[in-house]
Amino acid sequence: MKLTILGSGTCVPTPQRSCSGYLLQLDGQHILFDIGFGALRRMAEADLPYQDIDLVFISHTHPDHVADLVPLLMALKYHTEFKRTKKLTVIGPPGFRNFMDDAAVLFGDWIVSPEQYPLAIKEISRRPVRAGKATIRAYPMAHDRNAVGYRLEYVDKVFAYSGDTGPCDAVIKLVRNADVALLECSFPDDQAMAGHLTPKEAGRIAQDARCKKLLLTHFYPMMEHVPVEKIVGDIYPGLVERVHDLNVYDM
Ligand SMILES: [Zn+2]
Ligand SMILES: [Zn+2]
Repeated sequence: MKLTILGSGTCVPTPQRSCSGYLLQLDGQHILFDIGFGALRRMAEADLPYQDIDLVFISHTHPDHVADLVPLLMALKYHTEFKRTKKLTVIGPPGFRNFMDDAAVLFGDWIVSPEQYPLAIKEISRRPVRAGKATIRAYPMAHDRNAVGYRLEYVDKVFAYSGDTGPCDAVIKLVRNADVALLECSFPDDQAMAGHLTPKEAGRIAQDARCKKLLLTHFYPMMEHVPVEKIVGDIYPGLVERVHDLNVYDM
């Protein structure tokens, strides 16, 4: 499994960080978690094949997590260098189909029913999603009404991604014993905001869940000056790292 960070920022534009986007490559599959604005361009920058994405999981419909979905669908339709024929499945939280129907009103029918390739727009259910040997489950997070995190299990490896969340029991379950837990870490501890995590909160979650490696992401600009690894390291003894756009992690 290979994880590429396409966007580690928030809705606040900065030159260093695009919005949320995380590409997992495994067994020839390309699975994307979130596609906020700037994430698609990061794929082009890293020479990653956006035309080969098989599955997209959306954590919630805030623009910093979903805004590049329309540009992706447009790029798949109008690219001149290849012809996409394989299916694309996009899965989101409850209400996601309505969201895409509304997007079609704004942008046109082709984003929900392109002629060139099969496009499936789905919402999460209790049943896990299977992708080859991988199984992906959604957990409700403490953020927007319908926000979820995703836990992917592949052979003996676990990757879990929180999307946006505040501290809650569900996020501990989400990342329990994960080989790699990718947690948001939006604000410093002295500026905590409901629906988001601080370094100490992320550290406590990783410690309670006994994660093997903690990757921190979704940084508002003031986080650039906060020593997140040190703060988390005082709470959680495992590996911890602040991610940057285009970082690559092998699992
Ligand atoms: Zn966000
Ligand atoms: Zn959000």
